[in-house]
Amino acid sequence: MSRIADIAAALPAYDAADLSVDAVQAFLSELTASAAVTQRESVPLFEALGRVLAEDIVSPISVPPHDNSAMDGYAFDGAMLPQDAPIDASICLRVAGTALAGSAWRGALGAHDAVRIMTGAMMPPGLDTVIPQEFCNVEDDRVSFPAKVLRRGDNRRFTGEDLMKGQAALRRGERLSPAALGMVASLGLASVPVLRRLRVACFSTGDEILSLGDAPREGAVYDSNRYTVFGLLARLGCEVIDLGLVRDDPATLAATLQRAAREADAIITSGGVSAGAADHTRDVMQQLGDMAFWRVAMRPGRPLAVGLIPRDEAPSQQPAVLFGLPGNPVAVMVTFLAFVRPALLRMMGCHEAAAAPPPLLRARSASAIRKKPGRTEYQRGFVKAVAGALPEVCVAGNQGSGVLSSMLEANGLVVLHHDQGPVAAGDEVDVMMFDGCI
Ligand code: AMP
Ligand code: MG
Repeated sequence: MSRIADIAAALPAYDAADLSVDAVQAFLSELTASAAVTQRESVPLFEALGRVLAEDIVSPISVPPHDNSAMDGYAFDGAMLPQDAPIDASICLRVAGTALAGSAWRGALGAHDAVRIMTGAMMPPGLDTVIPQEFCNVEDDRVSFPAKVLRRGDNRRFTGEDLMKGQAALRRGERLSPAALGMVASLGLASVPVLRRLRVACFSTGDEILSLGDAPREGAVYDSNRYTVFGLLARLGCEVIDLGLVRDDPATLAATLQRAAREADAIITSGGVSAGAADHTRDVMQQLGDMAFWRVAMRPGRPLAVGLIPRDEAPSQQPAVLFGLPGNPVAVMVTFLAFVRPALLRMMGCHEAAAAPPPLLRARSASAIRKKPGRTEYQRGFVKAVAGALPEVCVAGNQGSGVLSSMLEANGLVVLHHDQGPVAAGDEVDVMMFDGCI
């Protein structure tokens, strides 16, 4: 049996003509579970943003490497703080010297001495508490402050409080964020081991599609999908192999698909996969690969093709994963976000949490929304903050699946779940925010 048929057979209530969004996600998670890239390379930290870690990073040092002060103030021995002091009790100490950040203070300390200390400076031995300077009264070499404003140990940072030597600082499969870059740098590491970038080939199909530079023609539209897909892939940190616009000719389609499978880990096409499609895209995919063609219970984005295209020169190698997206420009973006993005993140080698879609935001719908149970709908909407209450979301007026302008006005997609019915004005809804994805 084919791999695609195997996965389909294991899914409960699999119906290619009416597949739920959840079922598509479960299918793809199975299909891509063992398709992650394994080749690794080492990259300098400044080039590592968004890359996926190839191994755990174990800290070679403790961060911070020494106990230090969290404030500018005066370090002293917290044992001196009286247990049951009256509210107005104060402490008066002699200032024995100044500890600056970057070097150890090595002066001699008497029993009632304090050391003036700067943020980040090493705590002098025997001193464990820092009184911030704004509480202090300083006269000549004496400092006094109210006893009740702090407790023993306050304003001291411990060695290894951020990370202890030998502890795993970052996990294999982590996508390196700005905070992760800072963390790696704080360990003194100038480069990181990452997985090679995922290579994704894409092309558009359809005889009514024009390339940029072509003269306008009656009945034809410019190819916008390749550009949105390029943007979405670039945001993910994939290496994009642009195979252009492919005419509706079986030989050219086959040659392009085979080249894509040779050069890429994944292939994204748009157009030509709906049941009624008059072009040859479906047939060629079917001939070359192990394919499934679905009608997904969703709007926008009904038709979807998924499959594996073997590498003709190295059939024993992992086949390329093909995502045949619908032609309509908004359907392309929605199916990419709902299905392709999590699948590609897994193929990039992300661990489960890093590949998971961001959590949905709860917002109040400003208007009523028509919705029939039995399919998932994604409506373009704009979420704005409301002081002291849930954010409010306004859905765009024109939700047509070809209308890119309302995608531009939106900052998220209202997700109306499979079993959900109509929404009344003021009802709470879930929103998939674009931030970080688009
Ligand atoms: P299809 O899925 O091929 O039936 O296409 C559905 C709709 O999407 C048609 O109106 C196409 O003209 C449009 N479409 C298909 N491919 C593209 C593309 N690359 N750029 C813009 N629109 C497209
Ligand atoms: Mg078409």
